Amino acid sequence: MGVFETIGTETHESVHFGEDKASGLRAIIAIHSTALGPSLGGTRFYNYPDEDAALVDVLRLSKGMTYKAAAAGLAQGGGKAVIVGDPSELAHDDLFRAYGRFIDGLAGRYITAEDVGTTVANMEIIATQTSFVSGLPVGSGGSGDPSPATARGVLASIRAVSNHLWNTDSLHGRRIAIKGVGKVGIALVEMLADDGAEIVVADVNDRATEVASSQFGAKVVAVEDIHRVECDVFSPCALGSDLNETTIPELACTSVAGSANNQLAVEEDADRLAERGILYAPDFVVNAGGIINIAAETGGYNLEKANGMVDRIYENLTEILQASDTLGVTTEHAAAHVAESRIEAARKQGDES
Ligand code: NAD
Repeated sequence: MGVFETIGTETHESVHFGEDKASGLRAIIAIHSTALGPSLGGTRFYNYPDEDAALVDVLRLSKGMTYKAAAAGLAQGGGKAVIVGDPSELAHDDLFRAYGRFIDGLAGRYITAEDVGTTVANMEIIATQTSFVSGLPVGSGGSGDPSPATARGVLASIRAVSNHLWNTDSLHGRRIAIKGVGKVGIALVEMLADDGAEIVVADVNDRATEVASSQFGAKVVAVEDIHRVECDVFSPCALGSDLNETTIPELACTSVAGSANNQLAVEEDADRLAERGILYAPDFVVNAGGIINIAAETGGYNLEKANGMVDRIYENLTEILQASDTLGVTTEHAAAHVAESRIEAARKQGDES
């Protein structure tokens, strides 16, 4: 497919291509929506098999950011960027400086942050060329690593699920199975252990499960068994597509709430979960803590303000779960509906003013 044909299948405001031959930079910035505010989303540095794959990825990811920000109630739009190539060969300061100038040319319609393949150190180089960069270290006036905020948001979501299903925010004695105890997963384990939850974990990295078990008393099971654990909440915190045609019939949980992006392999998996009577907390609502933490940089970052904003995920998710019951639609559908209504209202307001 040609570039315009590929873009034409989507509803993005604009897509920008940037090249700097001297440093080898080839980047695409996709701005999906600025209806609610400047578009915000990380820069993925990845060795895509071809340019089409990079374009398709940036279009998909930027749209996801619009929904995530809107569902979180942020005054922020959705955008994303990809740098095409192998970071181990190309990730030099010159490239990030050229990339910073590319971002600066968009005059604030796109604000970048870290993503797969980029680091806080890269953001600091980009920041020498543009002010439209977030996720800098706390010492440089930024909000630092978003993972603790993301974990806090997952905890707020699990409480909202608990209140919806069992009329209590307390997670004492609840059995929670977590797949992936990396940066987000382990922070979640720590908070759940404080709450007196019974925790079961699995990870491909034995050192990660060892920490969860020795420091927080988590039970460890094999990676292939974690989704089959009988529990109150299954929390996917590893990679995407863990909820699919094969795993959903095997789930032994009452609900799902985790940090991983794109947990549903395909859209129909939301229906499969609903048919099994499993309450699914939509991933883009649950894992918004990181982006909310970044949004808290506006007007000067402080942790207390950021935590207060992240905790609102509880009310947001509660509203979505209730809407799903009232409208008789899946929770995924209800969340998309909430996000789309906010974008539409902002567009109308923009048209009127
Ligand atoms: P991470 O890389 O620190 O942790 C992921 C963990 O999952 C690692 O310990 C890894 O060993 C494990 N893992 C990988 N494949 C696995 C498998 N097949 N089975 C079991 N374990 C596996 O990443 P993170 O920052 O903790 O993020 C976790 C998830 O949450 C990712 O999907 C990420 O996209 C999403 N997310 C993270 C943030 C954030 O602030 N870090 C924000 C939004 C979404």
